[in-house]
Amino acid sequence: MVRIADPALTDHAFTLLRDLLRIASVNPPGDEARAAELVAGELREAGLEPQVLVSREGRANVVARLKGTGEKPPLLLTGHLDVVPVEPDEWTHPPFDGVVGDDGCLYGRGAVDMKNHVAMCLAVITRLAREGVRPKRDLIFAAVADEEQGCRHGSLWLCENHPELVQAEYALGEGGGFSLHIGGKCFYPVQVAEKGVCWMKATLKGPPGHGSMPRADSALLQLAERVGRLGPAALPAHRTPIVEAFLGEVVDALAPGVPGLRALAGQLVGQPAALRQLVGRLPDPTVRLGLMALLANTASPTVFRAGESVNVIPGEASCEIDGRYLPGQTQADMLAEVRAVLGEDVELEVMHAMDAVETTPWKSPLYRTIEEVMGEREPGCPVVPYMLPGFTDAKGFARIGVKWVGFAPVKLPEGLRFADLFHAHDERIPVDGFKWGAEVLSEIVTRWVM
Ligand SMILES: [Zn+2]
Repeated sequence: MVRIADPALTDHAFTLLRDLLRIASVNPPGDEARAAELVAGELREAGLEPQVLVSREGRANVVARLKGTGEKPPLLLTGHLDVVPVEPDEWTHPPFDGVVGDDGCLYGRGAVDMKNHVAMCLAVITRLAREGVRPKRDLIFAAVADEEQGCRHGSLWLCENHPELVQAEYALGEGGGFSLHIGGKCFYPVQVAEKGVCWMKATLKGPPGHGSMPRADSALLQLAERVGRLGPAALPAHRTPIVEAFLGEVVDALAPGVPGLRALAGQLVGQPAALRQLVGRLPDPTVRLGLMALLANTASPTVFRAGESVNVIPGEASCEIDGRYLPGQTQADMLAEVRAVLGEDVELEVMHAMDAVETTPWKSPLYRTIEEVMGEREPGCPVVPYMLPGFTDAKGFARIGVKWVGFAPVKLPEGLRFADLFHAHDERIPVDGFKWGAEVLSEIVTRWVM
């Protein structure tokens, strides 16, 4: 079997990442075209025939295919080219210069979300093309636009308009693969589920009036009071098999070092409200908030609007709410829970919705291959099935039947947490941990497609 996990591969992946970080593909507005051109150029140089698919001006997606023998169904490698905005003054190194700091990290917006994975996938597919290999599966690569604003001009558009180009059995994308340190042990999550999205707008009307004569029934005061009830645990907790599997495996790995842990976990299974109370007392805010979000549908108020003038009590107030619902729940369930908190007189309008995604069985043959490779590379760091509270391009690909496996490998030291890096000031990736990831990914991909 061809082995490509070598310095030539990791150096190429690093150069690609640095070059991609130097292109500011910030979304909004998007502007992924230049990044797409770089990607397409690399693919062409390796003898592949990329297609650049423009969903609207400036918004480009790139798809390429390394033809296999067709003995087995295709594998899709995918990542998004857009990144979230920056506040450059808050950064130690400029966000679009691709600088390696004294700490051995490559700084840049997109370093972990997710030009890292794009660069690795690109290095792997171009290398296999140059080696002239003919895998058992077609290997497809898709670099897409617009993930950060809801995927509409990227994966959703691509799957709706050109499904034949990206149709595959599995997609290897983002959502897992980073080192997760819990209780002194390191885990590698594989994303096999993600919550649904229900972005909504709550509106309440009330009598307008003069600002000099306050009134308790003002739309603004009323809506503010209702929205104020939407804390992190406002909606009921629910059991989900995926969360129980994740917690169960983490507990099993930690149990030998923490007396009584397994017994406690046993008592809590099936009692989501009690579990949430326990999680709500965890001292580490990142861990606490991340876990809390997996135990219920959630509703975050994000944009509040009311009034035009300081001396006029407005007749209407509205609040946009970012709702996320668990696999097994529906949009209707989510709306009913929010309505129960806000009151029947608040009008709820859905702005954008995408179903939850669950790849079943979680421990698919591809998952087993990841487990096998990780068992060799990182013995003692278990691979665990994981649900993401956010969303990824899995939404679009799941609509055409592609099963999502989120594993974009990156090794992080204990002090550097993925959850604190993505979308943050000083987004960065340890160069060593990135190169390690490129090797791991190349190993997984070759083992799976050859
Ligand atoms: Zn991302």
